[in-house]
Amino acid sequence: MLVGLLGLQGAFLDHIPHLKRCGVDAVIVRDIDAMEAIDRLIIPGGESTVMAKFLDEFGMRAPLLRRIDDGMPVWGVCAGAILLAEQVDDGHSGSLGVLPVAVRRNAYGRQIASDTQLIDIPVLGLRAYPGIFIRAPRIESLAEGVKVHALRGKDPVFVQHAHIMATTFHPELNRDDWFHRFFLDIESFRNTP
Ligand code: GLN
Repeated sequence: MLVGLLGLQGAFLDHIPHLKRCGVDAVIVRDIDAMEAIDRLIIPGGESTVMAKFLDEFGMRAPLLRRIDDGMPVWGVCAGAILLAEQVDDGHSGSLGVLPVAVRRNAYGRQIASDTQLIDIPVLGLRAYPGIFIRAPRIESLAEGVKVHALRGKDPVFVQHAHIMATTFHPELNRDDWFHRFFLDIESFRNTP
């Protein structure tokens, strides 16, 4: 299996050791050809506005949307979750807009307010997992059918809708591979036959 790391900006390199330990190949995706070759994609944390701009400038947004429509599993981390969201900051649509949630950027405070929160993740059998939040978005609402795998207080922080997964925190900064393994097990899901 070939896992793509969207490598336009942000913290994509931190995923490589995890994927190696999971025994899959990873490739950094910076153009359309690489986008066509992968089996699934991680959209890393970083700066969503910059990543959105590069996706457009490099002509990668439409090909990526096509792959997601065709059922390619995708995981958005923090800024990646913002790109996937249908709604960002009151009414704007996310660059990809394929995950039916509404998010508010930087809702837990700016860089200085980044923190580690202990969260329970029943789907992984984990209690008090240290979730690292860095200028994270808050998921403010979600459509029916979006599964909530973990909460920070009342806020969903790990969600899944069919083959689309999002975490508003950064599991790649921890040394375990729980989230990567979970993502690698997500099945491809095609909307139309
Ligand atoms: N605050 C960033 C944004 O709005 C996300 C931060 C992150 O990915 N760690 O894009």
